[in-house]
Amino acid sequence: MLSEKEPSRTRQPRSPGQTLGTIEKLDAIYERILTAVMEHRLIPGTKLVEEKLAGVFGVNRTRIREVLARLAYEGVVTTIPNRGAFIASPTVEEARHIFQARRILEPALIRSLADQAGAEEFRRLHAHVAEERAARERDDKRTVIRLSGEFHLLIAEMVGSPPLIKLMRELASLTCLIILLYDSPHVPACPNHEHTDIIEAMEKKGPDAAIALMLGHLDHIEATLDLSVPNDPEVDLEAIFS
Ligand SMILES: [Zn+2]
Repeated sequence: MLSEKEPSRTRQPRSPGQTLGTIEKLDAIYERILTAVMEHRLIPGTKLVEEKLAGVFGVNRTRIREVLARLAYEGVVTTIPNRGAFIASPTVEEARHIFQARRILEPALIRSLADQAGAEEFRRLHAHVAEERAARERDDKRTVIRLSGEFHLLIAEMVGSPPLIKLMRELASLTCLIILLYDSPHVPACPNHEHTDIIEAMEKKGPDAAIALMLGHLDHIEATLDLSVPNDPEVDLEAIFS
């Protein structure tokens, strides 16, 4: 995950019979599924078989159901009665709504961060982009996609508001699904120099310039979307999480 600091986690309220260890375990499973989505190892339409996931993660099916319910609530998973849980396949219209939400949320995050960011924040942002660049240079596509999404999450985390972090995390995960469904195959997740440009604008020119670049950046990502046929959802859950 993020290099310098573990991302804040949105914790589930504890229900009777759950120990703290169980909650941590559920958080870890949740994180691993989201990371697999972010890295495009779990693709839209993939069936999440409770029994298999229970075996992979060494917990009972009730626990898996709790994690799936949380992912379903966030829109990353779709549950179909009598058929089970699947990685969501956002429609084109849903995709547009997600980008609309990001265009509202992310300028506000940039403005808040610009107010409070100091040398340490800028150092972390630059370090993150350097990691993205290194992954791109070694052609590690999964890491590039994940780090691209996490750049936006890092901004939310630095602002430090748990509800905004949660929102950004959901939107970033859903964007990963959308990119996978609708992106042209050769377009990278986020053009690397655009992240650098946003940081430098925040550092040297102030929030308005950085916000304009962020909006342009979101437009560029959305502009690469195209209707296409979803990928083959037949995947091996054991192999993904082994
Ligand atoms: Zn980006």
